[in-house]
Amino acid sequence: MKCFYHPAVDAVAICKNCNKGLCVECAKDVGNGMACIGRCEAEAAAVNEAIQRGKKSFEKAANTYFKMALWVALLGGCITAGGVITSAKGGKGGGSILIGLIFLLGAAFYYSSGREYRSRD
Ligand SMILES: [Zn+2]
Ligand SMILES: [Zn+2]
Repeated sequence: MKCFYHPAVDAVAICKNCNKGLCVECAKDVGNGMACIGRCEAEAAAVNEAIQRGKKSFEKAANTYFKMALWVALLGGCITAGGVITSAKGGKGGGSILIGLIFLLGAAFYYSSGREYRSRD
């Protein structure tokens, strides 16, 4: 690939903003990529910022899901344990066990949603 601005020079990088090939003279390091010097620097920086912001909000959503998963799992665990204890004592704990298991299922759902958010890196 040749530099878009200097067709005789080999490209060493690709602009993050316009995806054109860039030679050493045309490439500007914008942190986690290269951009056309003087042309796409500002745009590439803005794109970087937007990606960083997006990552952070995904991270936040993932953490919320993980927290929810933990609480729902705790709740489900307590309800299930209560049901099991009631059953062990000869009472009717079946309903509680069922509800507890539904909570645990919900926790698994929250957990997998959190993982999905986190994997969108
Ligand atoms: Zn560019
Ligand atoms: Zn060039």
